[in-house]
Amino acid sequence: MANLLWLQGGACSGNTMSFLNAEEPSACDLVTDFGINVLWHPSLGLELGENLQKMLRALTSGQLPLDIFVFEGTVVNAPNGTGEWNRFAGRPMRDWVKDLSKAANFVVAIGDCATWGGIPATAPNPSESQGLQFLKRDQGGFLGKDYKSKAGLPVINVPGCPAHPDWITQIVVAVATGRAGDLALDEFQRPKTFFTSFTQTGCTRNMHFAYKVSATEFGQRKGCLFYDLGCRGPMTHSPCNRILWNRQSSKTRAGMPCMGCTEPEFPFFDLAPGTVFKTQTVMGVPKDMPAGVDKTGYVKLTAAAKAASPRWAEEDIFVV
Ligand code: SF4
Ligand code: SF4
Repeated sequence: MANLLWLQGGACSGNTMSFLNAEEPSACDLVTDFGINVLWHPSLGLELGENLQKMLRALTSGQLPLDIFVFEGTVVNAPNGTGEWNRFAGRPMRDWVKDLSKAANFVVAIGDCATWGGIPATAPNPSESQGLQFLKRDQGGFLGKDYKSKAGLPVINVPGCPAHPDWITQIVVAVATGRAGDLALDEFQRPKTFFTSFTQTGCTRNMHFAYKVSATEFGQRKGCLFYDLGCRGPMTHSPCNRILWNRQSSKTRAGMPCMGCTEPEFPFFDLAPGTVFKTQTVMGVPKDMPAGVDKTGYVKLTAAAKAASPRWAEEDIFVV
């Protein structure tokens, strides 16, 4: 039996909604099949008021073992580093996070806000938000770069806005069943099993990408969203086209650009007007290249690809 506590800081509850929609395994499976004891969760917890405070104090003192501490949302430090803007169970949430992270065997950050600050940490960051162990690309965050949980691991980051339901539950199960040591983490402490391939891996528009045939509107069933609509699929590490959403589809399959939400810089360009859903270019060449491609190679490749583009690439090949 592994005790799990889930708390929420500066958050929209999107990752909670995602978690509750998980299928493989589901949130119920965690309890019935994998021996996870959900001590408290913002949408599921029964304790309130003094009872909740008592339980949290028992966890921070070690009287009640804390196997997995899951945090969703940013650590809010405003105003002036006090955290008073986000009070919970009688004190600033940041103080609970500090104490619970010391007591936990494993700490899992779910979603962009908890991993690297996400949208709340976008400049000018009025809530003084931080991720647990990163602020954007910079390691450190609220807990500091040297932080390790009692089991000797740094915070396990499962990013996304929100994270896919099954990324969440599969990582929680791996940790709860003693397989955390098998989780290889990348430089941003993301499990490599999910965050090594790209959103583009498995995208149904790869042929259009290869022939430089562009989609010009959301929802079009032909064309690639990279050239005009700002798709970040070729440089975003996510399995969104391998582990489909609702077992059905993905943003790019539905004709919506990937916004790169699993990367620490999300939201890119601090959401400056004109930067969202629009490929940023200099002299017609995208500012952000597909991973591993340089600008000269890109120009040569796309010129040849466009010239070789077959007529079918301009047609809707998904019509039956
Ligand atoms: S739509 Fe995006 S993910 Fe799909 S092929 Fe084009 S750039 Fe890649
Ligand atoms: S497709 Fe891109 S923006 Fe959408 S969830 Fe996946 S990584 Fe995030």
